[in-house]
Amino acid sequence: MRLHSIQESISGAPGRRHLLSLSDLWDIPVNYQKVRHGRWAQRARHLLARCFMGKDAWPMVFRAPRSPEEWPQGTSPHLYIHLPFCRRICPHCPYNKVLYHKADHLAYGRALRRELEGYLRRPDTPRVQSLYFGGGTPSLTPDLIELGIRSLSLILEKNAEIAVEVHPCDAQGALLERLRGAGVNRISLGAETFDANSLHRLGRGYSPIQAEEAIRLACSLGFDCVDVNLIYGIPGQSVSQPAADAARCLALGVDQISAYPLLTFVHTPLGHQVAEGRFPVYGDRWRLRSQKEISRICREAGFLRTSVWSFTRPGIDPYSTVTREDYVGFGAGAGSKVGGIFWFNTFSVEAYHHAAMPRPALILQAADRFSRVHWLYWQIYRTCISPIRYQELFHRDLERDYGALLLLLQGLGLAYKDRDEYRLTEQGAIWVHRLQSLFSLTYIDELWQRCQKEAWPEEVVLT
Ligand code: SF4
Repeated sequence: MRLHSIQESISGAPGRRHLLSLSDLWDIPVNYQKVRHGRWAQRARHLLARCFMGKDAWPMVFRAPRSPEEWPQGTSPHLYIHLPFCRRICPHCPYNKVLYHKADHLAYGRALRRELEGYLRRPDTPRVQSLYFGGGTPSLTPDLIELGIRSLSLILEKNAEIAVEVHPCDAQGALLERLRGAGVNRISLGAETFDANSLHRLGRGYSPIQAEEAIRLACSLGFDCVDVNLIYGIPGQSVSQPAADAARCLALGVDQISAYPLLTFVHTPLGHQVAEGRFPVYGDRWRLRSQKEISRICREAGFLRTSVWSFTRPGIDPYSTVTREDYVGFGAGAGSKVGGIFWFNTFSVEAYHHAAMPRPALILQAADRFSRVHWLYWQIYRTCISPIRYQELFHRDLERDYGALLLLLQGLGLAYKDRDEYRLTEQGAIWVHRLQSLFSLTYIDELWQRCQKEAWPEEVVLT
């Protein structure tokens, strides 16, 4: 009886019968940061890589291009610009960022312009359908946002999505109007929580009232999408706080909520504290409860799950920088993927300034099987897998390639078939959180840690 009531309370497909409720087996605190760097997690990654990508796909090796002939020349309708400046550094932050200095900011603008001009010289550059500014704190340097939009104006589609991450401290009327005037039509506000102690613990530098005012103002200005980021699982945060945060955002009229557990990365100050046992580990049970509550509140408000983290108002295109099939990134530390080639710019802001022409620091030429698994991973993240799209992209049959996996996911109640697509259940979304914590975050740890230490690493091996 308990098995079914738990399933039905968290499943997106009520009434379905599953072989096993995995949530029942996982009500224990887990130090994901420690587990994912352990030997067993590495063995599991190795095994999965061999199963899904073949024996040559592991370990993954990013290497420096040996000559300009190897610099990737790919183009995409989806572009990303990284603006790395922040007014303060939050202890949990894994992203590539530096403290703001005016001189660096000006030099960065010159390097960014050079890189964008170089891109525009590539043959057959497609028109831009989406342009995302991430950071760092892009809203701290609105002139660089304007520079990016201006530089690309000749190839911007009329209705292109132009999206910016905005810090609540910057979300004043004048700045938001300035962004609207530049053509920005979507914003993501990093409010994180409305609990004053938790904001203090994360070093965010604003009060719950300021966060609320920022959201209210953003929602009143006619952006096509206002997304709000929330973090749950902050030690000291009450168990009811994440749900209260989500409810408050909905009451303020947001279009999307992206709610993440507090993830810790080994290369951050918070990650060091976790490694040394100085930071309390958040139990998986609490995480699960928060996820379920946020999901329930969003779905009761009529929002749709559009990724493992996000819930979006129906009729609004989800705000997401990471689920594009191909994208090209600009700026220090920006990543790109076109076809089977992945590449990263140097993470060093100083090296980025000094490069006569910004050039990739690391590339990975993926085999076809790897590209297909990478695509599948992001579709699972979006919670919706389309066999038709798979056929269009790879000229192969999804069920033939991954039939056993799809059957297993359905058997375990983690996915179900809805007409022509496979959709993740609520329980499936929860398991993706866990697998991300154990697998993909390890690669972020290893790659970003190394790239933040060395401007031009020769090679980075991901195990
Ligand atoms: S979380 Fe955002 S504001 Fe804080 S340091 Fe990272 S990029 Fe900057």
